[in-house]
Amino acid sequence: MKFTLKLKHFALTLSLVFIATASAQTNSKFKVVLDAGHGDHDFGATYHGFVEKNINLGIVLKLGKILESDPNVQVIYTRDNDTFVDLVERANIANRANANFFVSVHCNANKNNDAFGSETFVMGLSKSASSLAIAKKENAVITLEDNYKKKYSGYDPNSPESLISATLAQEEYLDQSIELASTIQDGLENKLNRKSRGVAQAPFMVLHKAFMPRVLVETGFISNLDEGTYLNSEEGQQNIAKTIADAVFRMKVEYFGGTMPVIDIKKYEKPIIKDSTPKVNVQTQTKDTSKEIKKTAEVKKIDINKPIFKTQLKASISKIESKPENFNGLDKISFVLEKDYYKYMYGETNDYVVAKMQLLEAKTKGYDSAFIVAFRNGVKISLNEALKK
Ligand SMILES: [Zn+2]
Repeated sequence: MKFTLKLKHFALTLSLVFIATASAQTNSKFKVVLDAGHGDHDFGATYHGFVEKNINLGIVLKLGKILESDPNVQVIYTRDNDTFVDLVERANIANRANANFFVSVHCNANKNNDAFGSETFVMGLSKSASSLAIAKKENAVITLEDNYKKKYSGYDPNSPESLISATLAQEEYLDQSIELASTIQDGLENKLNRKSRGVAQAPFMVLHKAFMPRVLVETGFISNLDEGTYLNSEEGQQNIAKTIADAVFRMKVEYFGGTMPVIDIKKYEKPIIKDSTPKVNVQTQTKDTSKEIKKTAEVKKIDINKPIFKTQLKASISKIESKPENFNGLDKISFVLEKDYYKYMYGETNDYVVAKMQLLEAKTKGYDSAFIVAFRNGVKISLNEALKK
């Protein structure tokens, strides 16, 4: 019984994907759904007099205005005032619109008032307890909804992992979601000069129900007085909005064409304090296996007439010499200069399965938010396009 249900879900997902792709091609506007977290009686986090729902809305409205300055972009808001919209409805608004991207905006909070920095999440299984805790907190709102037990049958808000089983069918959007998330974090760190806590995966209900590249940005900690003050200010919200808009435009230009607008982001004046706690990397395989992967990858010759897959490791404003010691021991590093970013990539293959192994290898070397990118004749194309026969 359970198996049949899962198959049904998979088939439904596939047909939704097809519909989304088909209609995205016939509609010329690039659609971005903006989701200001919380609203009305759901305040989100509150600290030092800062109220999360208001900050989220402030950033989202500013972000929408910037995106709409491009006549080819259509912005759809899940809420544009102080109202309550449930999590599934937020995702459904994006599904009904056949949106190209879904961006949910939130603020983080922690009992430890020293914690600060931004973090962008994509849907998935969490590797860390802290990511799981954030997902749990953001999902908790469903208990405020009417009939939540019926509506979210089988989902336990205290155990966000229960969302995972159904998400495998949505994997085709994962790479672009990670790329969007990384682009946002690159901007927040390099252009806005704010501390980045990186890209992470966690089971957020609002992301789980949406079928398109989608991210949830925790723009900063309102529990931190300094960061909360910035998030609560017009200037802070404006510059965070500009930074997220810059990232969305970048992705749009890369995959859907058009021109990149000039967005003047004012750097945060206080120097960022580098995170002293090292990131915990999950070792998923032994060294011997990674050698095997290398061998497999080296055997096949590259056919330049076919799509070429690479693993993007990082983007940086300054140039880094492409030697292994600068890339955690990884060799065969190539880079492209796109606008003001150098993008560093590992590996090169026509075989998507090999590309997946190279991605895994990059992750074991510490590049947690690495993702696969595809090129045809030197021009970046979407993975969906590259995987088409
Ligand atoms: Zn929130």
